Amino acid sequence: MQSIPSESLVIDRKSRANTPFYDLDLRPPLERIYDFSEVVIEFSPERAMVEAARCIHCPDPAACMVACPAHNDIPSAMWLIEQGHFIDAANLYHQTSSLPEICGRVCPHEQLCQGSCVLNKKQTPILCGWLEAFTVDYKRRNEGRVIPLAPPTGQRVAIIGAGPAGLGCADQLAQYGHEVTIFESKPIAGGLLLYGIPNFKLPKDVWFEKWEEFERAGVRFIGNTYIGKNKTIDDLFQEGFDAVFIGVGAEIDAKMEDASGSNLPGVYEATDFLVRGNVDLKFLPHEMHKPLKIGKKVAVIGGGDTASDCLRTALRLGAEKVTCLYRRTEKEMPGGSKDRKLAAEEGVEFRFLTQPIRFIASEDGNLAAIECIQMVLGEPDKKGRRKPVAVENSNFIVECDTAVLALGYWPDPVISKTTPDLETHDWGLISADKATGKTSRPGVFSGGDCVTGPDLVVTAMVAGRKAASAIDEYLRTPLN
Ligand SMILES: Cc1cc2nc3c(=O)[nH]c(=O)nc-3n(C[C@H](O)[C@H](O)[C@H](O)COP(=O)(O)OP(=O)(O)OC[C@H]3O[C@@H](n4cnc5c(N)ncnc54)[C@H](O)[C@@H]3O)c2cc1C
Ligand code: SF4
Repeated sequence: MQSIPSESLVIDRKSRANTPFYDLDLRPPLERIYDFSEVVIEFSPERAMVEAARCIHCPDPAACMVACPAHNDIPSAMWLIEQGHFIDAANLYHQTSSLPEICGRVCPHEQLCQGSCVLNKKQTPILCGWLEAFTVDYKRRNEGRVIPLAPPTGQRVAIIGAGPAGLGCADQLAQYGHEVTIFESKPIAGGLLLYGIPNFKLPKDVWFEKWEEFERAGVRFIGNTYIGKNKTIDDLFQEGFDAVFIGVGAEIDAKMEDASGSNLPGVYEATDFLVRGNVDLKFLPHEMHKPLKIGKKVAVIGGGDTASDCLRTALRLGAEKVTCLYRRTEKEMPGGSKDRKLAAEEGVEFRFLTQPIRFIASEDGNLAAIECIQMVLGEPDKKGRRKPVAVENSNFIVECDTAVLALGYWPDPVISKTTPDLETHDWGLISADKATGKTSRPGVFSGGDCVTGPDLVVTAMVAGRKAASAIDEYLRTPLN
């Protein structure tokens, strides 16, 4: 529900709808490709007020609120921002989201809140995602934020995985007064916020400042602990935890087993490439300390957001020619158009209907080229996407000294293999109720990418919050 009802506002909707639009300011491509700093230039308070004042305040529930997986009260926040009440607007976002400064930056706005804004029909939608990030950054800088805590209940919950799902769950459980401990296989908290999404989309400082809020709320973090290897979920119950939330994501890179040479020096998996390319050595596990060797000609294989991040990272690491190889057309690409547009502006070349079939070594044994075959689109598959079909004798060579495989992700089977009675389905995804995160094991809840498969920060965070509410109910029920 909108906390500031749109009917109560005396505004001229027609003139608002015709107000000129000024787009976000971005750093110029020729400047930004030489560093990893954020590409979007933050709103000034004046610009934020002008942009928010374009909102025409649709009747409740506004389409943007419905489209936002967190159901943020966007119209009320726009009203507060337009009046200059930035901190009140930030407080509104904190009511429905555990990571507003992050979602405001990395959500595919054009498919969610902004995509459903009614101004799309005749004008340009409100930049509501970036206004969200602006208000929450503003509050943090000017006032700081303290997670509001209920009196302690004495109940202890273990969270496995410190990514958006685990963090959404931890935020809410702490607010309900439960004691929260996060077990994480990596040295530092963040999941893909730290070990995946590059700095130019999400500056690491934004994440580290966010993490301080969790620490101040008393959330305990135990890093370098791989549940399923170092200890099991049964061990956690034996240690006295009253409930467990699994938010381990889906982080095993898909392989390209049918193409020979995919293990040549110079061929990287996307996660390894992004993490070693973007993350400070001191935050990396020891086995990732070896520096990346990147050549002048880089080919990235895949069409999702991870592929866009690899393309743009390659440019920033000094590659002179960066090419995306994708086996369908741009229309079928799963990644967001926003990141693809930025990559193209930065000089990335896209080669569509191109399927790599063999990685070719030079005399020194390193990658020298990729043999590809031309594709055409055939009949639609079960999901309605047209299948790519190879054109006979259309093979050609793409020269490159570095290749990155950004082909998607699978869930890690270690938890399900070591947890009796935990049901999984397709490719090892954990079976959990959508609304509550309840799994087949009493007291064990789950959410995020390990349940849905690779998705978004906001959907994982929301799943963690929903599970927290179900865990709270479970813990308050006698006899559990
Ligand atoms: C390169 C890249 C770019 C992306 N860009 C965007 C974007 O721009 N916008 C967007 O909305 N989404 C983006 N995503 C998707 C988004 O990051 C994920 O959907 C989201 O992080 C999922 O959250 P999660 O908590 O389920 O999993 P994760 O973020 O993967 O976190 C899971 C955590 O669990 C830990 N873990 C795993 N197994 C164990 C274990 N057995 N024991 C202990 N800990 C364990 C992992 O180390 C990790 O820290 C991107 C993904 C990638 C890979
Ligand atoms: S969480 Fe994402 S979808 Fe929701 S308002 Fe913020 S940017 Fe838009």
